[in-house]
Amino acid sequence: MAASGPPPRASARTSFAWRLRRWAVRLLVLAALGVGAATLWQSEWAQAPRTLWELVRMPPPTALPVPVEGVRARQVADTFGAPRGRDRRHEGVDIFASRGTPVRSATLGVVADIRESGLGGRQVWVLGPARERYYYAHLDGWREGLERGEVVQPGTVLGYVGDTGNAKGTPPHLHWGIYGADGAYDPLPLLRAWQAP
Ligand SMILES: [Zn+2]
Repeated sequence: MAASGPPPRASARTSFAWRLRRWAVRLLVLAALGVGAATLWQSEWAQAPRTLWELVRMPPPTALPVPVEGVRARQVADTFGAPRGRDRRHEGVDIFASRGTPVRSATLGVVADIRESGLGGRQVWVLGPARERYYYAHLDGWREGLERGEVVQPGTVLGYVGDTGNAKGTPPHLHWGIYGADGAYDPLPLLRAWQAP
């Protein structure tokens, strides 16, 4: 009958060295993963998720530049909440300028949607600070190369003033709206609070 007992074991010394090596390998793998993740996060490829992460943690702005080139805040009429038709209210402000005037993002943001539909016609939606959505509508056209997921800085051209959608035939203007957690709010006080740097 074979002798029973524990299986043969490496000496304590060898076992310690082996464990040490195993931990060293684990640490190296972790460090490599960490460096890889950090590099990826800083890469061009991660620019949108990185910006989204930044935007979500930003407070809503307290002042913003007029998003149409060459227009001053005092030239923008206070029409937020004005009746539109029988059952609608004006959920933004209208910024008049000649056709083709550049429309610039008022904020840091990520382009959430670019489309042509309904009342707004050619439009751009930008996800901005504090997850608020910025609506740029009635555009004559979009800036060449503009695409969904693109990171925009304050001042990045989104498109050009026009009269598309239900603005057809009216003087060209940008309809501009900001939608927070509770829906649209009046952007005009933010424009008036802006001090050009
Ligand atoms: Zn409007």
